[in-house]
Amino acid sequence: MKMLAHCPMCHSAYEPSEIRLLGEKGTTRLFHCTCGSCKHAVLAVVLEAAGSVSSVGLMTDMEVQDAMRFQLAGPVTTDECIAVHRLLESESQAICAALLDRKA
Ligand SMILES: [Zn+2]
Repeated sequence: MKMLAHCPMCHSAYEPSEIRLLGEKGTTRLFHCTCGSCKHAVLAVVLEAAGSVSSVGLMTDMEVQDAMRFQLAGPVTTDECIAVHRLLESESQAICAALLDRKA
């Protein structure tokens, strides 16, 4: 598909193996593209209607496995947002320590 030919970050051409179709519904398809050069990933919605094709791309830090998993997940609730906010405030030191540990 020509619209998904190049990485929007470094403009390298995608290899066919770097473009994955995650799902389709009617004339709308959702793709995940991972650039082999700069490793940035994009979620792209491609819509075909009346002979024309349009697309919306969104940079993501999701790997293709995450994108497939989250596709089936329900929407995040207000209560979940508040719970995460409270956790980030009350446990910020522990969270930072855990993140730094994972990087080391
Ligand atoms: Zn790239």
